[in-house]
Amino acid sequence: MPGNNPSVGEIGNPGGVRRIVIVGGGTAGWMAAAALSRLLANGHREITLVESDDIATIGVGEATIPPIRAFNALLDIPEAEFLRETMGTYKLGIEFDGWGGAGSYMHPFGAAGQDFHGIPFHQIWLADREGGSTAPITDYSMCAVAAQHGRFAKLALDDQTPLSHLSYAYHFDASLYAAYLRRVAERQGVQRREGRVVSVDRDGHSGEVLAVRLADGTSVPGDLFIDCSGFRALLIGEALNTGWEDWSRWLPMDRALAMPSERSAALRPYTRAIARPAGWQWQIPLQHRVGNGHVFASAFMGMDEAEKLLRDNVEGAALGDPRLLRFATGMRRLAWNHNVVSLGLSSGFIEPLESTSIHLVQHGILRLAALFPTGIDDAACRAEYNHEMRRTFEGVRDFVILHYKVNGRQDDPFWREMRDMVIPYSLQRRLDLWRSGGRLFRHDGDVCAIPSWAAVLSGQGAWPVGRDPSTEALGQEQVRAALSDMRTAYTQAALRLPMHQDYLQRSGALQPL
Ligand code: FAD
Repeated sequence: MPGNNPSVGEIGNPGGVRRIVIVGGGTAGWMAAAALSRLLANGHREITLVESDDIATIGVGEATIPPIRAFNALLDIPEAEFLRETMGTYKLGIEFDGWGGAGSYMHPFGAAGQDFHGIPFHQIWLADREGGSTAPITDYSMCAVAAQHGRFAKLALDDQTPLSHLSYAYHFDASLYAAYLRRVAERQGVQRREGRVVSVDRDGHSGEVLAVRLADGTSVPGDLFIDCSGFRALLIGEALNTGWEDWSRWLPMDRALAMPSERSAALRPYTRAIARPAGWQWQIPLQHRVGNGHVFASAFMGMDEAEKLLRDNVEGAALGDPRLLRFATGMRRLAWNHNVVSLGLSSGFIEPLESTSIHLVQHGILRLAALFPTGIDDAACRAEYNHEMRRTFEGVRDFVILHYKVNGRQDDPFWREMRDMVIPYSLQRRLDLWRSGGRLFRHDGDVCAIPSWAAVLSGQGAWPVGRDPSTEALGQEQVRAALSDMRTAYTQAALRLPMHQDYLQRSGALQPL
């Protein structure tokens, strides 16, 4: 970092970063601007965001995972206002249709059941299944049961009923979210510079970025640059030539067609992910429309067929023509290189099956704040950041690969190839542990917790072969009765909740259309 010598710089901020320049005003850019101006503003630091109105944002991030709530809370964003402004709805999980073969299953948020004498719940449920029960693990998930009934409500923090297991995230219009965060960031003092970045000035000796040059000939100097320029990766990729690690051998999807449609059904509190012959289709309920997209591997399906499949499978009339998005799956070898930190699509991309990209942006921002350069041992901060981001990206990657590896579809070459692929060792080890006796562990940096792994594995028909010895001493009748009571409690609790749309209305979160 510039000014590694602690004697250089301001008092109270020796050698540290004074000028932060964010390049790009998509979801990543404005999330970074809003959060860093809240966390790091100290009267000495300036944050400037450069973006070009002539270059569109990607604008299709519509589904999120529960930690987004903590991000919004950090910014004191009132939930009802946020949902109104972004046309948002609540999300309790994802329904996967056709991934295990016929039928569907839910990957809900939150806990499943309750552990018993130190035995993880999924082991108790597996033991009950050995004894002949056919109830899916999602019968013990408050989110799954509420989602099946189309219901939702927020709870009092001290709620002691099964409803306290109701975790949730949001669906929203990502472009509106970026616009909302822009207002938050500008209120907190972030300066926006309109302009197209055409080149990057670097220090010939250290290689640090000194400034970005705009098409109008002006330049924006900085101490720390945050590359949020999307797939273009203007700084981390083009200027610094930071390597890219390609993961397409495991995740060959490289195209998406996105097409919104009119909303014709009641607002579902969950995303749908429907398996298709060379990929899958998303359906995301927003207040004003349904977000639809078909993610596919171009090596297995042509554009015309992909487009027809999408057009034939949307609820309500199409609102416009499909928009093509091309992408590659992988990540930067270094998320933070020299004095450039990449966030969002410039730092890497894992297809949107588990709605994790915005979360990875959030995670990066909070890590950066926690490791913000002080001018002392900045290389250690950079190394820690890169290590942490790699671990998190790889955890998400493995979880997404899992869905393809354990698919139960028989009919298409794509799905056969995905089932036969050699997967990363980190995932193979998890699958082996599951097979040996239903063993699931949460690893450091995992975004998805044990109930998520259990829901996907069992939902797609991948069962353990061995049985965990810790469950052998459990009385079968006692387990059966306890689980039956639990199921009843979850269903009764769900039926006490209002319908999702009614709750949105009642809480003032619906935008009058
Ligand atoms: P962008 O939105 O591309 O923004 C880039 C910014 O850089 C723009 O403001 C642009 O003007 C600016 N810029 C570029 N070049 C220049 C230049 N030369 N000069 C000045 N400015 C410039 N994520 C989720 O969490 N959930 C989802 O459901 C989800 N679905 C997705 C579906 C698809 C098909 C894809 C491709 C992505 C999806 N994502 C999803 C990811 C999500 O859209 C992105 O992670 C998120 O929007 C962040 O994008 P970004 O800000 O990095 O890039």
